[in-house]
Amino acid sequence: MNPNPRTGRHVTGLAGNPMTKVLPGQLSLFDDLDAEVAPLPGPQTAAPSLYDSPSRGLVARTAEVEAWRARYGNWSSIRRSHAWEVHITCPDTPTARCQPTVLSADLRCDCLDNCCCVGDLLYRGACRGCDWEGEPRNQENAAVEDACDHAWPGWRDLPVVPRVPEDRKRHGAWVDRVATHYPTKWLTDGGPIRTRRSGLATRHVPGRTPFGGYDLAAEDPADAAASSTPHDGDPPAQRDS
Ligand SMILES: [Zn+2]
Ligand SMILES: [Zn+2]
Repeated sequence: MNPNPRTGRHVTGLAGNPMTKVLPGQLSLFDDLDAEVAPLPGPQTAAPSLYDSPSRGLVARTAEVEAWRARYGNWSSIRRSHAWEVHITCPDTPTARCQPTVLSADLRCDCLDNCCCVGDLLYRGACRGCDWEGEPRNQENAAVEDACDHAWPGWRDLPVVPRVPEDRKRHGAWVDRVATHYPTKWLTDGGPIRTRRSGLATRHVPGRTPFGGYDLAAEDPADAAASSTPHDGDPPAQRDS
């Protein structure tokens, strides 16, 4: 208790006064005044970007972004942290062998107008079985291909095969047919397949084989040549690339 000796009340305007003493647990008016002068550590300025973090691998990335959220909050954390996280719909479960997945980092801004940011949504291949990560890419498919180069080298030479039937009862026959054209245990170990696609359906889709492998789009060369002309019906079932 250090009231002004003359008035018996606390006074303002004496910040930095060495005579000021504050008991433990007592609010110091003078400390508050100092804080108003110093720049406020608001979340916008204090929260660091994780984009250039040296962390690699899903485990380290997840731990890092969880620590970031615990400290700086969950709101809009994907944009505020610019962290590399497993991209939406892409698999994040650990695997015994190397298996592909994709991380994305959001560099887009929240400017309302007069924006001259170069931000974008970026992708990079990653592995669920080890800490490998690929280089940042502008397209998700390119990141998937990097990850398949890592986990399933040789996938580019695979023959294009029929799409996986929607009807699960036909999966057995599909597996029997495709396995004869693919390396031994490729399918059952969760390896990717290549299927002919066209139009807008050219995304590399995770988890689409009966064993959880990627379905990689092999764009029809004729489709590219025909430009915007849509195809009627399915393309030929089996064609070598
Ligand atoms: Zn790996
Ligand atoms: Zn902007």
